[in-house]
Amino acid sequence: MRTPLLLFYLVATLGLARGAAAQTYDFPRYADAAAVRADCDRLLVDLKRQARAIEALPEQGADVLAALDAMAQRSEDTLGPFDLYSSVHPVKAVRDAADACNLAAQRFTTAFLQNDKVYRRLKQAAVADDIDRRLQREQLDAFEDSGVALPPEGRARAQRLNAQMAKLSQDFERRVRESRDTVAFTEAELEGVPPDVWRRAKRDAQGRVRLGLDYPTADPVIERALREPTRERMWRATMRLGGAANLATLQRLAELRHDYAQLFGFDSYADFVTRRRMVKSAAEAGAFLDSVADAVGARERADLAVLREAKAKLTGRPQAETAVRRWDVAFLTEQVRQERYAVDQEAFRRYFAPQHSLAFVFAVAQRMFGVRFEPLAQPLWHAEAHAYAVRDADGRLLGTLAVDLFPRQDKYNHAAVWSFRNVSTKSGRLPAAALVTNFDRQGLTLGELETLLHEFGHALHALLSSTRYAIPGGTNVQLDFVEAPSQMLEEWVYDPAVLALFQLVCAECAPVPREMIERASRARHFAKGVMFSRQLLYARFDLALHGRRVEPPQALWARMEGATPTGTVAGTMFPASFGHLASGYGAGYYGYLWSLAVAEDLRTAFAADRLDATVGRRYRDTVLAHGGEIAPEELVRRFLGRPGSRDAFFRSLAIE
Ligand SMILES: [Zn+2]
Repeated sequence: MRTPLLLFYLVATLGLARGAAAQTYDFPRYADAAAVRADCDRLLVDLKRQARAIEALPEQGADVLAALDAMAQRSEDTLGPFDLYSSVHPVKAVRDAADACNLAAQRFTTAFLQNDKVYRRLKQAAVADDIDRRLQREQLDAFEDSGVALPPEGRARAQRLNAQMAKLSQDFERRVRESRDTVAFTEAELEGVPPDVWRRAKRDAQGRVRLGLDYPTADPVIERALREPTRERMWRATMRLGGAANLATLQRLAELRHDYAQLFGFDSYADFVTRRRMVKSAAEAGAFLDSVADAVGARERADLAVLREAKAKLTGRPQAETAVRRWDVAFLTEQVRQERYAVDQEAFRRYFAPQHSLAFVFAVAQRMFGVRFEPLAQPLWHAEAHAYAVRDADGRLLGTLAVDLFPRQDKYNHAAVWSFRNVSTKSGRLPAAALVTNFDRQGLTLGELETLLHEFGHALHALLSSTRYAIPGGTNVQLDFVEAPSQMLEEWVYDPAVLALFQLVCAECAPVPREMIERASRARHFAKGVMFSRQLLYARFDLALHGRRVEPPQALWARMEGATPTGTVAGTMFPASFGHLASGYGAGYYGYLWSLAVAEDLRTAFAADRLDATVGRRYRDTVLAHGGEIAPEELVRRFLGRPGSRDAFFRSLAIE
């Protein structure tokens, strides 16, 4: 999930409703930077006019919420597509102009959020019910967290810090996205790597294959190359992505965030941001991570013993002289999965062609929630990106989805959803989202199908939301809840009854053999200790980096990773490409585990039938429909008919 501009998301994604006509969203197309700049200028003029109009409202009892939501919508109209295009648009000048506009809009927003006149009117605004009251409280929080109540000097400092932090985040992401780093291998060195990964790659003067660091290329090399030096070279290259420049940027960012929190009397940025989330405090986040560590620690050691045994067998050396290195973990895990469970992820590709996989996730949504996805003829930012209308069972238009499936140069290099335009029932506005992935054209592995369904889950959250206001629409929920609806769906791809929908969307496709799925379902529990320990390390590193004292990120990382059973490797700099920390997930990575606990709880309602349309309907109406307009704890309670519980999560951690 992408959470651009998160700290001020509530207002940063600041419009006048376009009326209630139910039309699919028209994705704007930009041929050059001048058109982007012209739209940006219009946006800033409109926002200033809207701000002045709020200042002129009566001090008490005015409909300030509707006026703020109109600003949010106007902002989304322009910045929504810009934020997406800065990651996917093929023209660099357009991407850069979109980035520049985002910075200019953030400057406007941080100043606006210090506007006393608006703040006073918001405090005494007309509120009709709990939904209005929650939005009012969250907007007041956004103003207060931006410094509206600080003395003038503090306000100016808050503005400067915000502008600097926004710039640093963009610099960090750009360096990763625009990396041209490659690693050269002879064909022999690539033994074990599926030829589809490297056959069409460029060659250097010596005839060696030059492979980029995008994950559809790098991951199969690290997971499959039989020769250890090959894995090591590719792994080391990915661990240097972003470079020393990004380490410096991340450190500066952490320092500025610390300064920012101090302006408000907090000792750490982690304390400052977590108080607005489900978790409520950094201490509570830490305690939760400790409870997960207790549950998986022994399991990690057992997993590593199995991996060491596998490596000793492969290399023909005694176990005592065998060490599992960082670049071995993914490879050995795959090897054991193949050997023990006879699961070969590559073998799934022939069953999961990209277009059919997309049709499959659409079919899952149709079965669970009664919605249809219909292709539109609309041309988008690239010939390979396509738009779809989303319709309810009765044909009513619900929103628009864009899908951009395949890798290309300069494109965002992971899988994500931009839910950049939000619904508002009050102003008759329909949502739009973009699903961006980097799949292999030959087909998806089962793991990638899981990723597709996860990301599609974010799109559904945005598209099936029907909130009164756009500000808390769809995925604009608390950061440590936002992953739960997507994580809930991940398990669906291991269910043969769900996968049978493939034959509905592609009658001529060979069905994936049931025993392949069953083996994969068992195999995914193997190495859970290693996997969860890694997630814990990321989450704890993130909280530590945003703790009371800011340390150089690489030194902190080396110390923390060095204390793990596989240790750290000199010369690597993983934090330099850890994009979550530079973007909206600062002091928020723990949220993946936290929301997984919520997801496991939500899944219990689908235990008998994951495609149950009655439960699906209830889930759509009680959880997805409300976005962030109701507290997540309350959404979970309404859906499950009881308060949330972590029992299902800890039970799942114990499954062998
Ligand atoms: Zn996600």
